[in-house]
Amino acid sequence: MTLDPKDWNAFRATAHKMLDASIDKLENASEGRVWTPLPEAKKAAIQTGLPVLGTSTDEMQKQLQSLLPYGVGNTHPRFFGWVHGTGAPSGLMADMAAAAMNVNAGGRDHVAPVVERQVLAWSAEMMGMPKETSGLIVSGTSMATIIALKVARDQAMQTVKGALVGYTSEQTHSCVAQAFDILGLGRDHLRKITCNDALEMDISALRAAIDADKAAGLTPFLIVGTAGAVNMGAIDDLEALADIAASDDMWFHIDGAFGATARIGQHAKDRLTGVARADSLAFDFHKWLQVNYDAGCVLIRDEAAHRKAFSDRPEYLRGSERGLAGGAFWAVDYGPELSRGFRALKVWAHLKEHGVAALAAVIDRNIEQAQYLENLVKITPELEMLAPVPLNICCFRYKFDADNDAKNEEIVVRLQESGIAVPSTTVLGGRLAIRVNLTNHRTRESDLDVLVDAVVRVGGELG
Ligand SMILES: *Cc1c(COP(=O)(O)O)cnc(C)c1O
Repeated sequence: MTLDPKDWNAFRATAHKMLDASIDKLENASEGRVWTPLPEAKKAAIQTGLPVLGTSTDEMQKQLQSLLPYGVGNTHPRFFGWVHGTGAPSGLMADMAAAAMNVNAGGRDHVAPVVERQVLAWSAEMMGMPKETSGLIVSGTSMATIIALKVARDQAMQTVKGALVGYTSEQTHSCVAQAFDILGLGRDHLRKITCNDALEMDISALRAAIDADKAAGLTPFLIVGTAGAVNMGAIDDLEALADIAASDDMWFHIDGAFGATARIGQHAKDRLTGVARADSLAFDFHKWLQVNYDAGCVLIRDEAAHRKAFSDRPEYLRGSERGLAGGAFWAVDYGPELSRGFRALKVWAHLKEHGVAALAAVIDRNIEQAQYLENLVKITPELEMLAPVPLNICCFRYKFDADNDAKNEEIVVRLQESGIAVPSTTVLGGRLAIRVNLTNHRTRESDLDVLVDAVVRVGGELG
């Protein structure tokens, strides 16, 4: 019994059909609806009993192809919800190559560690961190944060006095508190510092909180700065945070999930110089850098500290000088996963094919588009802005006489259901906002015109 096809030529023809269907989808990514919910009949076709006997490859290909329209919608130029990257067509090729090799990138001496280390070296360079910076390619910023904070915690525990406390802003992403929880530090030991009007961490409030905790016998060990807050894109004063971390002997971590990558462009780079001063940095390739899901990165300045936090190999994973068990870089020494796929390959191919200059141009264009949208909102009498636009996110609402929150939420749901556009919502200063995030290389200004027209029309209907 083998799982190989009986007829390789037939398999080849079927697989080519799948490739063509996938390319068709991407060639037409700007057409049609943004989000198409999965119809009940299709859902039922998925939710069958355990398939004891298989189906033909041909039939399976048809089923796979039939699912293509029912994703999140983030390949469409009018997908503005949450922070999703758009991906790129060549991701198909890299994923095919990775699937064909089917490597386990946890360790050993083969192509994957070489590619992964190269991607890490490029990443450190993009972020202005030293050549010797350590790191790992992971599923995303959430996992990157857990790894970084584990290293920070272990370092602090070498000399700990009293319970460890960390500091971040009220605008921080939930993955930071989750990492505190997972690492046993306790969510209540993460202080959420108030923000200024620009929704950046208030530096004097941070100073006061650290001093108060020290006076209470606790051990401040970590500052988490945000480069591009998920709500509206705020960038903390990273240089000031780095100064405090240095003067108080604390670890400086940056959540730069999408925002840190704007370092490679022109518009935001001057506000992101502090990224280079991080002890650890978490960011995503799958957001603003447009690599297909999923791929994120953790960078850690101190390689020895990084390795110490994770390398604990048992006998059966022992390395050797020569042979397949050789190789200097074993990913298993730098994170909690042993078996892992070849994520680094698609990142390597993406950076190589497109080049940093083109990716930077996409980022800068999205920042310009956020400003274009802000202007559009400001000149549209029915609408008002709810937050500044420091980067690529624009938060606004339709002005109703009453029930603003419920009615703006209804606008967003109707736009999503109509298939016209997918913004999301957030709450800023207690008010519900229509939130438009631009991390999309397919978006044109005309897509933003369509969005605003639709918001005004639906708002008028709800009036
Ligand atoms: C998306 C995001 C995260 C989480 O990253 P994942 O890649 O989804 O795990 C963390 N912080 C910020 C600011 C984000 O935008």
